[in-house]
Amino acid sequence: MALANWAGNVRFGAERVETPASVDEVQEVLASATRVRALGSAHSFNLIADTDDTLLSTARLITAPRIDTEARTVTVGGGMRYGELAPALEAEGWALANLASLPHISIAGAIATGTHGSGDGVGTLSSAVAGLQLVTPAGEVRELRRGDADFDGAVVSLGALGVVTEVTLDIEPTFAVRQRVYEKLPLEVALAEFDAIMGAAYSVSLFHRWDAPDVVDQVWTKARGDEAPLLPGSIGEASEQVHMLAGVTPEATTPQRGEAGAWLDRLAHFKLSHTPSNGDELQSEMLVPRAHAVEALRVVRGLAARFAPLVQVMEVRSMRADGLWLSPAYEQDTVGLHFTWLPRQSEVEGAVAMLEQALEPFGARPHWGKLTRLDPRVLAAVWPRLGDFAELARRCDPEGKMRNPFLDRVLTAGR
Ligand SMILES: Cc1cc2nc3c(=O)[nH]c(=O)nc-3n(C[C@H](O)[C@H](O)[C@H](O)COP(=O)(O)OP(=O)(O)OC[C@H]3O[C@@H](n4cnc5c(N)ncnc54)[C@H](O)[C@@H]3O)c2cc1C
Repeated sequence: MALANWAGNVRFGAERVETPASVDEVQEVLASATRVRALGSAHSFNLIADTDDTLLSTARLITAPRIDTEARTVTVGGGMRYGELAPALEAEGWALANLASLPHISIAGAIATGTHGSGDGVGTLSSAVAGLQLVTPAGEVRELRRGDADFDGAVVSLGALGVVTEVTLDIEPTFAVRQRVYEKLPLEVALAEFDAIMGAAYSVSLFHRWDAPDVVDQVWTKARGDEAPLLPGSIGEASEQVHMLAGVTPEATTPQRGEAGAWLDRLAHFKLSHTPSNGDELQSEMLVPRAHAVEALRVVRGLAARFAPLVQVMEVRSMRADGLWLSPAYEQDTVGLHFTWLPRQSEVEGAVAMLEQALEPFGARPHWGKLTRLDPRVLAAVWPRLGDFAELARRCDPEGKMRNPFLDRVLTAGR
């Protein structure tokens, strides 16, 4: 197994890699190691999953999906990827409310970092979690259901509480989606009509490459139902299938042009069978309260000359508030300002620090799975339940078996 993440910008310092296939085997790995980090599909861009001792790959924790039609849930092994679960659900007439931009990521890894798609009325992927099975560092198997005392702290867990062996997700009857892409939206119209545009379809993303700073290159809309979204301004639909990155052919992207298709073939931007995005990139994201989104975007516009040469594309997405302590949308409707960068780590780190600093006044939260300066002062300010989370982590893991420097920094900020 490669000891590097998907982007290749992180090499893990693990002494050994274990790939357990059952709860018993997870317990054995936890009992035999001094320090452990779970590793899902390794799509995070920072050192969150790193360890100097044992990496526990979840690749074989993939029990077959169990659908409960009455409760409207599905239970799967934590190592399963969304792209593997989705066809199994669709075959039985069921769907998930949303997907991230790609279906390649593991379910437990995605929910541990607050991964999200877009949609004013749709929560993060973590908010679809109805239950978890967790093996604690001491080897105890815990079942947590929505409504249980520790549940809201245990979903976006950063891998701090143990190894998630099963996840139960909300499902709903399958539905069709029509995806349409519109091109060349003036930035001023986007800002003036922000709510109307983000609310024009079930899921909306704005893609801005910043080479022409005052024009948003593409608006991706994913609609349930037959109506084409009504967008302000004289913005036209792309006449053919497009990619959001300049000069990249669109084979990897899910079907556009308004043709109806099942949710699993439209909600993600990228097909499971293809490399998502560019493959040669870094990512960062700041999540700002919806109420400050337009102001925050104006600040970003003001800095464009300084970061634009490093950007491949920026994506703006929205999500509904939830109650999960470390969720990007904890207790506030939220807008994500995501950046896909050129793979120039040190320059990108400088740009990320500049943007994070500039967006501090808006209470911007960093994405747990992407590049961030992880400033403890900011973390403490933007996540009001961080102290409770640190306490929960200490209770689940008194010996610090799941700790690594990334987590130490987060938990110290929560003191
Ligand atoms: C091309 C690309 C596109 C992306 N698109 C999006 C997007 O649309 N939206 C978005 O929000 N993010 C996006 N991301 C970020 C991505 O969703 C997160 O990094 C997510 O964590 C990936 O899941 P993973 O399984 O790869 O996690 P990993 O990177 O493997 O792990 C992340 C964390 O989860 C923990 N973890 C993993 N599995 C378990 C488990 N079973 N039990 C306990 N802890 C566990 C790990 O210990 C670690 O702390 C994207 C990333 C890439 C590379």
